[in-house]
Amino acid sequence: MILIFLTLAILAFFGIAFVLFLESIHEQEKRAVLIGFIGMLIAVLTIALAYFVPILTDPLAILFVIAGIFGLLLCIPGKQNPKALKGTMGYAVEETARFDESHSVFVRLRGLKDGSDPYKTFYAQNPELEIPDKKRRAKGFLGKLGSIDNGYQSNVAMVHSAFELPHFLGPFAKGTPYPDTQPANLPPEKATKIVKKYAEHVGAVSVGICELNPAWVYSKRGEIHYDNWDDWGKEIKDLPKYAVVMLLEMNRDHVMAAPHTPSVAESALNYAKGAYISTMMARWFVHMGYRGEAEHTRNYNIIMPPVAVDAGLGEIGRLGYLITPKFGARTRIFITLTDMPLIPDKPMSIGVEEFCEKCMKCADSCPSKSITTGSKTRCRGIEKWKLDEDSCFDYWSRVGTDCSICMAICPFSRPNSYFHRFIRWYVANSPLAKKVFPYIDNFIYGKRWKARKVPDWLSYPKRSESEDYPTILNDSHY
Ligand code: SF4
Ligand code: SF4
Repeated sequence: MILIFLTLAILAFFGIAFVLFLESIHEQEKRAVLIGFIGMLIAVLTIALAYFVPILTDPLAILFVIAGIFGLLLCIPGKQNPKALKGTMGYAVEETARFDESHSVFVRLRGLKDGSDPYKTFYAQNPELEIPDKKRRAKGFLGKLGSIDNGYQSNVAMVHSAFELPHFLGPFAKGTPYPDTQPANLPPEKATKIVKKYAEHVGAVSVGICELNPAWVYSKRGEIHYDNWDDWGKEIKDLPKYAVVMLLEMNRDHVMAAPHTPSVAESALNYAKGAYISTMMARWFVHMGYRGEAEHTRNYNIIMPPVAVDAGLGEIGRLGYLITPKFGARTRIFITLTDMPLIPDKPMSIGVEEFCEKCMKCADSCPSKSITTGSKTRCRGIEKWKLDEDSCFDYWSRVGTDCSICMAICPFSRPNSYFHRFIRWYVANSPLAKKVFPYIDNFIYGKRWKARKVPDWLSYPKRSESEDYPTILNDSHY
């Protein structure tokens, strides 16, 4: 009887090690491949000992009973995070304040021209930023694009071509219904279903809906794309009531090359796709007789990750990105605002906050130390892990890409395979898993980042200091 129990337990253990081994080969996780292999060896050895050295049968059975008890404890479900279930306002600790878009490091560097009125106004109010920003500006936006890969032209051209598309779509971002178009008379349930299905049909991988919380609308316009400088510093107001939040999955092969050029090429591609999808949706709303406003890289009015949280698409992790149940941090967010009556989704709890408290992987691997290893702090009335955007951006300028190491290394960003879905289910539901899985993850996959090999067609040459970089990304289109 004991032998049968032991055999079944060892077979289960072998199965887990085998799946880990196979999946990790596919994922280029060398350490996990080795651990999976060692696990299989241990299973074979254990079964041999159990059958051929009878004196060891009982101790081995006890060992597997202990492991079984641990497995059962993992299955005890706990309460979901009540803060996460309330969405972003679950983390509000005082009255929230809106963020002025002109303070964003991207906006400062892309937009403010030396000697212009906005430049003088901004640095008169924020004198401590003028010298560091001047130095950043002198390097060009993102420094020399792809400099880490010696400006490898094929990948760099992918970035340029992808970022050009949103530039053409920006003028169509704000849509108001035509005077002769009556608002479609759809019940909100039906409208919601059509909106979600259509957004998926156009290309979104996940769609959520929420009422737009004004806390996430920029207080003032800072980013000027089409020379409409009269808008600079004006209050942003009167946006449509509902946010249709759409996600795109970042291709893992590209992301795992972070911080090299395949990862920034993938980001750029998704900005282009997102601009297309959000504009299509905005135009659909217009033809349905409602306002439709596409939020993409050429027309941002709102801070996207918190709105995605309110729309029930995930939680925000230590790294400051949205973490979703299927793709972790490997997503890009696009939004279309509308006043068509829709049914909002409910925020979700997937265990991110509790996991991040123990994990720290992104913070430990961040080359610019922009991600805190400490606790959440108050930021405009909300408790969050505050990212140092300026130092992060400085690293981007050094490597000439958008880095993305934190996105790549996050355990939630692994492929949406059965194996990882199984683990994510435990993290979402088991209090014990939230506590111990970050340590198990570090043991199996390691703590430090190393860029993975990319498919041949994306393969970039090793950087040679003696060569010059052919492409500089300082064009105002970006
Ligand atoms: S993108 Fe890179 S530099 Fe920026 S926070 Fe993430 S790991 Fe750090
Ligand atoms: S790497 Fe770890 S700490 Fe960072 S966001 Fe992902 S789970 Fe949280």
